[in-house]
Amino acid sequence: LYNMVQDLKGNIRVYCRVRPSFRAETKNVIEFIGEDGSLVILDPLKARKEGRKVFQFNHVFGPTATQDDVFKDTQPLIRSVMDGYNVCIFAYGQTGSGKTHTMSGPSGGMQKDRGINYLALEDLFHISSTRKDIINYDIYVQMIEIYNEQIRSCASENGLNLPDATMHSVKSTADVLRLMKLGEVNRAVSSTAINNRSSRSHSVLTIHVHGKDTSGSILRSCLHLVDLAGSERVDKSEVTGDRLKEAQYINKSLSCLGDVITALAQKNSHIPYRNSKLTLLLQDSLGGRAKTLMFAHVSPEVDSFGETVSTLKFAQRVSTV
Ligand code: ADP
Ligand code: MG
Repeated sequence: LYNMVQDLKGNIRVYCRVRPSFRAETKNVIEFIGEDGSLVILDPLKARKEGRKVFQFNHVFGPTATQDDVFKDTQPLIRSVMDGYNVCIFAYGQTGSGKTHTMSGPSGGMQKDRGINYLALEDLFHISSTRKDIINYDIYVQMIEIYNEQIRSCASENGLNLPDATMHSVKSTADVLRLMKLGEVNRAVSSTAINNRSSRSHSVLTIHVHGKDTSGSILRSCLHLVDLAGSERVDKSEVTGDRLKEAQYINKSLSCLGDVITALAQKNSHIPYRNSKLTLLLQDSLGGRAKTLMFAHVSPEVDSFGETVSTLKFAQRVSTV
């Protein structure tokens, strides 16, 4: 039933989230956030009339939106995994725009403000328990990082799917918290965040659901929760060597992801999955009956304006609104 509501809305949706401003003294470029998913920003260098840029998404969460607000609008999608649908949720945006906040919550695994990763698992356990007389569910999680087009597991043991990846059986939220600590899904954000490797790799938490009903029929599906590498463009004249290589890998994989989702949104016959490790890894969960949600994160401060425009354009391109 969860999927019925979703089917009416199509399989690709884009939400925008604007984080609060941390510097009250700086100008804010956000002019208007509509209930209908519209967002208006103002170019600080232009006159009011010429500087207005309007975007349209499925929904926009403003700076006062809570983790629960965000989760509520994501929950039906997450729940459809229990009915056999594959789902991908992406957090896109420049470093510092709030991707990790949305997916994991504040660093250190604090109980307050937990993100989608934890809330999703908690909800899946809840559904599993309410259906336990009809279906027996087993839930496994896998934590993977993609760095410079190389895939590696964040919590190593014996792998199943990928040579170096791990599937951990989880039975409770306590198991989940232990794992998240292990895999540093709640990645610490420090003053050196810009230089932190976590912002330059894609981090994928995959939740595998195996269900078996009383008649013995089997259901298999998965939910991929992806905290993408920072989308900021680096100045080629300023970085060299490893840093430049990293930037080029990120650039390429994010634009591949954009190409794949755009191709799906336009119902193209060729979907270029093979152009990056990320889209190849998620191939079975992008397109077909699978559902995709992209969170486009933006910072409201004036000095982020260029990146904000580029994030919103990217998000608009993959959106079918
Ligand atoms: P990213 O992962 O995109 O680099 P983070 O999620 O680490 O960005 O966010 C940068 C900082 O802003 C962190 O200190 C985070 O806690 C804070 N932050 C981000 N979004 C919000 C929000 N919606 N409400 C409160 N604080 C936020
Ligand atoms: Mg982050």
